[in-house]
Amino acid sequence: MKDTAKHQGLRNQLVKLLAEKGIYDTNVLNAMNAVPRHLFLESGFQDFAYQDTAFPIGAGQTISQPYTVAFQSQLLQVKADDKVLEIGTGSGYQTAVLCKMGAKVFTIERQNELYRKTSVLLPKLGYRPRVVSFGDGYKGLPNDAPFDSIIVTAGAPFVPQPLLAQLKIGGRLVIPVGDEKQVMTLLIRTSETHFEQHEFGDFKFVPMLEDKNR
Ligand code: SAH
Repeated sequence: MKDTAKHQGLRNQLVKLLAEKGIYDTNVLNAMNAVPRHLFLESGFQDFAYQDTAFPIGAGQTISQPYTVAFQSQLLQVKADDKVLEIGTGSGYQTAVLCKMGAKVFTIERQNELYRKTSVLLPKLGYRPRVVSFGDGYKGLPNDAPFDSIIVTAGAPFVPQPLLAQLKIGGRLVIPVGDEKQVMTLLIRTSETHFEQHEFGDFKFVPMLEDKNR
């Protein structure tokens, strides 16, 4: 579990590439420059960790492409001490980036194998999300709500109502919506009953699955 000067150099290059691709939030870029992505991958993929690509992480799931992590994190507009809910802990890489940005992170994973592995890995690497939960992200975490922002890292066929209900007024939900491909969607809660919607083009995620598929 080492982070070497070589890794840091590759990480700098990746962050430069993300900036060239249009990521401008320095909080996001600094966090991604600090989090050792290679330590969230299985050994066979570690040499490629700083390419801008998704990789398998076991249980049929993938760690998101760095550009996607950066794009979603930027849309969240995370401020220090924000309460952020993440759906789809997966490898824990996105969780670590949010922790590094100073957020209080609550994260949910429905795959038991990934949940067990990642809930041990994160503290080992020095990242301390408030809650790593094994469960169904469609339900959110009502007992810990409301959240400043919510990020869904799996492709959702629709926007789950409980997630909207768990946002603070002014809060932001970033969710890729669609079946085969997904439209990156930002919903901002402007009042108790009203949400403003913005769309940001197509992305490709593994599907957000309901409880019955576990
Ligand atoms: N944020 C992760 C992305 C992993 S891929 C990372 O940085 O590695 C998406 C993850 O969402 C998978 O681990 C998948 O098991 C999980 N997932 C899918 N449906 C879910 C649901 N209903 N609730 C919680 N997690 C879900």
